[in-house]
Amino acid sequence: MKKILIIEDEPSIAELERDYLEINGFSVIIENSGDTGLKKAKSEEFDLIILDLMLPKVDGFEICRQIRSDCDIPILMVSAKKEDIDKIRGLGLGADDYITKPFSPSELVARVKAHIARYDRLRGNNLPRNEEISIRGLRIDKASRRVYINDREVIFTTREFDLLLFLALNPNRVFSKDELFEKIWGMDSMGDIATVTVHIKKLREKIEVDTSNPQYIETIWGAGYRFKV
Ligand code: CA
Repeated sequence: MKKILIIEDEPSIAELERDYLEINGFSVIIENSGDTGLKKAKSEEFDLIILDLMLPKVDGFEICRQIRSDCDIPILMVSAKKEDIDKIRGLGLGADDYITKPFSPSELVARVKAHIARYDRLRGNNLPRNEEISIRGLRIDKASRRVYINDREVIFTTREFDLLLFLALNPNRVFSKDELFEKIWGMDSMGDIATVTVHIKKLREKIEVDTSNPQYIETIWGAGYRFKV
């Protein structure tokens, strides 16, 4: 059963969210304060976090920043003010989605399902946990999220790793920038497809011997990118 953490200081909202999510088969834990919420998020494993912005003790901005510094679990931020959403975007905290109060519970459930499905797909959760992908000198350890080039470990950011793993799990298929953006960042994420170009460039710098003549990630002009096997 997928497990969701709700960090929300208004009990009526938290309970409404919980009721709808439980009806839809999720297991839910509620924390009503920022400090206890952050502690919970760090001490237990969840599949998604619904995070209110205005919270006592530690606010949603800080919680999001701290969670993101050590994991890539989907975070759905909730706020009563449209201006706050703009602020979240501006800060680039790495929340996966934003929703303003009041919202319809069924919309919340739909978004939660979409983000969990995307996260599962990204992590290749349908594959055995110890699965390793090995292509020529490149080795990707999916479970530990580590990458080696000729047995030397290379460090990747969360999104870089997600992008590399996604391409490697779907070899020889061409993906457009729009498709990659939707798959890795999520359709409702803020940002634009230039992010994809930047990340592809970073990946090449890390895995290719000659970035002008890539052996792994090919550019298919006018179409997108392909992971060559
Ligand atoms: Ca609040």
